[in-house]
Amino acid sequence: MTKRNIHSGDMTRAIHAGEQPDPTTGASAPAIHMSSTFVSDSVAGFSAHDLGEDSPFLYARWSNPTVHMLERKIAALQGTEDCLCTASGMAAAAAIMLTFLSKGDHVVISDVSYAGVAELARETLPRYGIDVTPVDMSNLEAVAAAIRPNTKLVHVESPVNPIMRLTDIVAVARMAHDAGALVSADATFASPMGLDAVALGVDLVMHSTTKYMGGHGDAVGGAVAGRADLVKQMRLEAGIHHGSVLSPFNAWLIARGAATLPLRMRAHQQGALAVAEWLEAQPSVTRVFYPGLPSHPQHDLARAQMKNYSGMLSFQVGDTATAERLAAQMIEKLKIVHYAVSLGHHRTLIFWMETAGLMESSFKLEGAALESYRAFAGDGIFRMSVGLEDPEDIIADLAQVL
Ligand SMILES: *Cc1c(COP(=O)(O)O)cnc(C)c1O
Repeated sequence: MTKRNIHSGDMTRAIHAGEQPDPTTGASAPAIHMSSTFVSDSVAGFSAHDLGEDSPFLYARWSNPTVHMLERKIAALQGTEDCLCTASGMAAAAAIMLTFLSKGDHVVISDVSYAGVAELARETLPRYGIDVTPVDMSNLEAVAAAIRPNTKLVHVESPVNPIMRLTDIVAVARMAHDAGALVSADATFASPMGLDAVALGVDLVMHSTTKYMGGHGDAVGGAVAGRADLVKQMRLEAGIHHGSVLSPFNAWLIARGAATLPLRMRAHQQGALAVAEWLEAQPSVTRVFYPGLPSHPQHDLARAQMKNYSGMLSFQVGDTATAERLAAQMIEKLKIVHYAVSLGHHRTLIFWMETAGLMESSFKLEGAALESYRAFAGDGIFRMSVGLEDPEDIIADLAQVL
């Protein structure tokens, strides 16, 4: 497992980190090593517990050369010592929670997050004797009040999927570290280009690499980047014991996408800003939430914390009946924009997300927490992932229905 650190700009790192010309064939592009097992030159038995930086490849659930290449690339992009790639973004979230939490521990988690992560925390963790406190992380007093002596992990998501609310990560990380807890952040929406999560104090940065990292909507995967000792623990627990491994084929596709991540994120940001500004000028649109717009209620925090505002935005059009009529029109009439879930692809995607339904299935918020959600989402939002098409074509497509 050779490790070549490339200290250079983002564009160069995205292309070269983890890769090298094939030593036997001279191939410039990396090979896809589908091999599940590796011929050993040692008679000694081998335990996953002894896995080290220089261990040879042995079995693909431990480590595989193509997956390793992607792990080095993501670690370089995120500025961490190491990275574990997983079968999906959900597997990355599960890797963090099931490695660093045990019976009797407590976790504080953003009360709005990717719906699957919200359900994992609220439904699965309590079955294993782990206490969970979902909290509105835009409210720092609420975070402080939620932390307890047995809090082992604070899990942040910023911007949160789907409502684009932000968390002051520096402030939350400081509170968590003062209490001796680890800090994990789901940076899927921002990508490593948008959030320098480690500089903000995060210990473990997770991504659904299905989204911006891969960037082309053709491979499901996940990753957690962080300190080598933490990644090693997750590799043993989540990779080797739980079996949450990424296929080498998907790793190759995601690495090929990641090579253009810095370039794509600049174009996503440019397109999203143009679409957001156009949406704000439409009489039928009541609110637009994009961190790069001065109208975003946390725009100052976005400017301080985000290096790129990404391509994600949300907007509202009035009551639920109006929105559902518009969604039906979109399904029927949109030519370029796909009415579909997921995000971060070169194709523009849009999807209607009703507040009542999400409360029932995933978030279950009440009182002040529900008010805070509704301040960003009202009765529901159209979540839009602005792709890499010409912004004027995306706008012309939307103009047919808005
Ligand atoms: C999509 C997503 C996930 C889950 O990722 P999968 O690859 O679909 O398992 C987790 N967090 C966020 C913010 C996401 O958008």
